[in-house]
Amino acid sequence: MLCSMMTMLSVVSLSFNAIAQQHMSGFSQQAAQSQKQVEEKFKRIPSPEEARKLHRYFTAEPHPAGSERNNELARNIAETWKQQGWEDVRIHRYDVLSSYPREVAVEMVAPVRYKASLREDAYDVDPDTKNPNVRSGYLGLSASGEVTSPVVYAHSGNPEDYDLLRKHGIDVRGKIVIVRYSNPYSYRGFKALTAEREGAAALIIYSDPAEDGYKKGKVFPDGPWGPESHIQRGAITYDFMVPGDPLTPGWASIPGAKRIPIVEARSVPKIIALPMSWRDAKPLLENMDGPEAPKDWQGGLPIKYRLTGAVRAHVKVDMDTSVMANYVVEARIRGSEFPDEWIVMGNHRDAWEFGGVDPSSGTASMMEMTRAFGELKKQGTRPRRTLVICSWDGEEVALTGSTEWGEQFADELKKKSVVYINVDSSTSGPDFRPSAVASFAPLIVETSRSLDAPSGKTLYAEWKLSLAREQKAKRSVKDDKLVDTKIGSGSDHTVFLNFLGMPTILLQFDGPYGVYHSAYDNFYWMNNFGDPGYRYHTMMSVVWGVLALRIANAEILPLDFAFYSRNIREFVTEVQKKNALKGRVNLQSTLRRIAEFEAAGLALNRAISRALAKGRLDARTSESVNQKLMQVETNWLNAEGIPGRPWFKHILYAARYTYAHLELPGLTEAVEQKNWKSANEQRRILEDAIAKNSALLVAALDELSKSK
Ligand SMILES: [Zn+2]
Repeated sequence: MLCSMMTMLSVVSLSFNAIAQQHMSGFSQQAAQSQKQVEEKFKRIPSPEEARKLHRYFTAEPHPAGSERNNELARNIAETWKQQGWEDVRIHRYDVLSSYPREVAVEMVAPVRYKASLREDAYDVDPDTKNPNVRSGYLGLSASGEVTSPVVYAHSGNPEDYDLLRKHGIDVRGKIVIVRYSNPYSYRGFKALTAEREGAAALIIYSDPAEDGYKKGKVFPDGPWGPESHIQRGAITYDFMVPGDPLTPGWASIPGAKRIPIVEARSVPKIIALPMSWRDAKPLLENMDGPEAPKDWQGGLPIKYRLTGAVRAHVKVDMDTSVMANYVVEARIRGSEFPDEWIVMGNHRDAWEFGGVDPSSGTASMMEMTRAFGELKKQGTRPRRTLVICSWDGEEVALTGSTEWGEQFADELKKKSVVYINVDSSTSGPDFRPSAVASFAPLIVETSRSLDAPSGKTLYAEWKLSLAREQKAKRSVKDDKLVDTKIGSGSDHTVFLNFLGMPTILLQFDGPYGVYHSAYDNFYWMNNFGDPGYRYHTMMSVVWGVLALRIANAEILPLDFAFYSRNIREFVTEVQKKNALKGRVNLQSTLRRIAEFEAAGLALNRAISRALAKGRLDARTSESVNQKLMQVETNWLNAEGIPGRPWFKHILYAARYTYAHLELPGLTEAVEQKNWKSANEQRRILEDAIAKNSALLVAALDELSKSK
């Protein structure tokens, strides 16, 4: 029944689109017509039934990086891509540091004895929760060791929390620190580094019900939020310093590669750490008898949260850190006209357990998208540029597979790549939440206007409404504010954006989701809460594929540098607003450079529109213009990297240690540290890059004016 409904819907959308006749950036009218036909064909292929079947397959068993099941999925993906008609299917192997628990244990030894279960409850309604392969909670890359010591509650485990403990005369050195996951949010690896710097002996991170449990709404299996025993697993790798295999920082872990000793690896934590459910954490917290914690440290449990006192515990973590193999599956559809211009796309395969949302929703969406591309190819429709698709491994550990692959093919990617489009979790609800470097933001908005969402509205209309709802805005959100253009870390785009300077797009549908990285992030959860009809999985296959098709087939790449320049101006203005620069750094010259870049971007946009309005561009001109446009993002790279973190080379984007987005990282961090010498150096690097890019746009403009 659903199937015939779908066909009807696409017929309706076809006629609606024919009436609406939307503008298509980068295409002449003639080319836009044939592109529309290709897109209509493409959109009809992905189906919710197929997405659901795929999702069941990928979530059938726990499949962490390095496990036999995850490797079996890699072989299946490779085989499927071959059958779908993809070319050059390869499985790359990387030998990387593993991090598997041999033993994880926590026992309270005073004032009463209590042994934490570190396990999640099984429920009859969801047979997957009874799967014997589900493991106890642990944190990837925790150090091994054992300690018996007093326990201190340190709120969210951020530096200011330890300042407050110090004010109360509480020293955490040698102690076991227990912290919450997110109040406010910070990446668990940052909590580990902070605890390590404070001299704590061990770190326990637990899920407080105020953050993702019953204080938010109904809990699993009756609702989308985390039940009492759910555990948020995860890695604590210091990949904000350098991601990828910790033993090969900056180069690929191909078999036989040079490896540094583990003690020299910057991204390997030296503290023992583990995650806990609130049920296991409660006895530790409620038996404390020391000073009461401040109001904003009180969580969702019906107890008085205290800073410390009376509670002693024994913590033991024993990790296996031998070398394991990670597998990246890669395939292509070679472009018919520009095989050396690549649209790179990817999704990670490894999951902490079943990976219902993270990442198997993305994997199901990806496989439906690749099926649609294969069908088009079988019907004789090849993209003009090459599509490259990858199934990453070890994302959950250290963004490992994507980083190693990016490092291995760095030179080729810098020359040939047009874009990287990442989908990690595709669907935890209906709210479209893409982010992108600003040059691609207008394309996402434009594309969303031509796609129909499951509600029957356009994706664009649905997106606007849901964002206004989220921001509690009275008026609708403006088009130029729809795409989030501030990009932090935490997924596989990192190597492509920050190390290789590729323009990056990240796509996802969001919703209430309290079971992240737990055993309840599974098929049952998706079918009952996340996306019961799998319509948003299919929507993702469509929006991802159509975006890729637009970039792959455009005559002039649909990049908007006028928009990019305005975004960079906002970044600079924010640095001015948030910091007292006291005349030590003068950003007026930077703003002048940005104005020049904007003027060049605007002139180029106009020239492209004019040229395309006249009809198809001659191939030589469009190719030479595109080659220039492809260089812009790599010009934002500084070979030295940002101060203190040489692997991160992009001067507009990076992430803080907390994973929060960080714009103009070199300049911002220098200003925040009041290091004016470094700030001025970073300002000059930024100005030079902007000038270089303005010149590039002017050269592209020149090419265009010479044609016809
Ligand atoms: Zn993920």
